Amino acid sequence: MGFNRTSVLVAVISLYFPASVMAQADQTVKDNLQYTLQVPYPVEKISSSPKKARIKNVVLMIGDGMGLTQVSAAWIANRGQLYFEQFTHTGLSKTTAANKLITDSGAGATAMASGQKTIYHAVGVDTVGRDLATLTDIAHKKGLATGIVVACSLTDATPASFAANNIDREEEEEIATDFLESKVDILFGGGRRFFNRRKDQRDLLKEMEDKGYEVITSSTDFLNSSQSKILAVVENGQLDIAPKRGPVFQEASIHTLNLLKARKKGFFALLEGSRIDDMGHMNNLPGVVEEVLDFDQTIGRVLKWAAADGETLVIVTADHETGGLTLLDGDISTGRVSGKFSTGGHSGVLVPVYAWGPGAELFTGIYENTELFHKIITLLGKKVNGE
Ligand SMILES: [Zn+2]
Repeated sequence: MGFNRTSVLVAVISLYFPASVMAQADQTVKDNLQYTLQVPYPVEKISSSPKKARIKNVVLMIGDGMGLTQVSAAWIANRGQLYFEQFTHTGLSKTTAANKLITDSGAGATAMASGQKTIYHAVGVDTVGRDLATLTDIAHKKGLATGIVVACSLTDATPASFAANNIDREEEEEIATDFLESKVDILFGGGRRFFNRRKDQRDLLKEMEDKGYEVITSSTDFLNSSQSKILAVVENGQLDIAPKRGPVFQEASIHTLNLLKARKKGFFALLEGSRIDDMGHMNNLPGVVEEVLDFDQTIGRVLKWAAADGETLVIVTADHETGGLTLLDGDISTGRVSGKFSTGGHSGVLVPVYAWGPGAELFTGIYENTELFHKIITLLGKKVNGE
């Protein structure tokens, strides 16, 4: 605590300028950021439990860098209500990497994707670089359809941990070539340049077409497609941040569930709220809250979809927390939240797990992130990766 020159300056300025000007000024104050959500959205009640006990589909939603404070900040901003609160079962996940207390998205997502702890910055490989079978690989072998929807590049660490194998997450051109063999049916995200502007001059978009994929480069075309195998790389880099990108992540997620359900055999889908992490790295509290609110509205749509389906398990968790965010003040009645970050990197706190639908009771308790894989595999009825 204590006053510094910047906070005194802001306090003085606030006497002379209206709130809208202050909102911008706040973003320059790195140690105590504020955000107010102007227009909250209503949270509808989802019918509580599916009629059938059978589990056919699994939707895993990962909020990258989303700890409890990120969720709490969004909850305050939206006047004390979120779709998060409708989950029936909750747990806590321990996120450490094999060789580091504070993990990254590669080791964090690989643990969830494969059931094995790996080293910092590895994706889809074990600690010595051997390929791991992931949830999408195993689901495909079982005859299930699979899908990945992200707001970052498809070659970024989280999706790469499910669909690629590389000891170094930075090798995004190498990771892109792994999609040729990944067998994931529906792929939606950014990162087109890693497919078609490569050092080796290969055109992976053409090669994916040759593999039977419809290759799509705009969100609108994706939402209008009913093909069963799609590579949608709708941006050269990442998708824009919320709310600038509009509801595209929400809509692409639901469209993907509809496409996968049409395959009739059941499916596994990974939906990642990718950019919560980026906003945490930037210590941008408004950005963090806007991203979590977009993720929460996606959760609302997914839960409604799952309630209508009746055979779908929905799990929401994170790979790690980003920013060491603390909430210091706020007002639920006005949607104002005030917080402080302690790092520009990740932190080592446990992250929440939320579950809803058939099998949700398995996700209560405190466990390693690798257990998420084992619980999902148990529900899908098959043992792998050396078990
Ligand atoms: Zn990060």
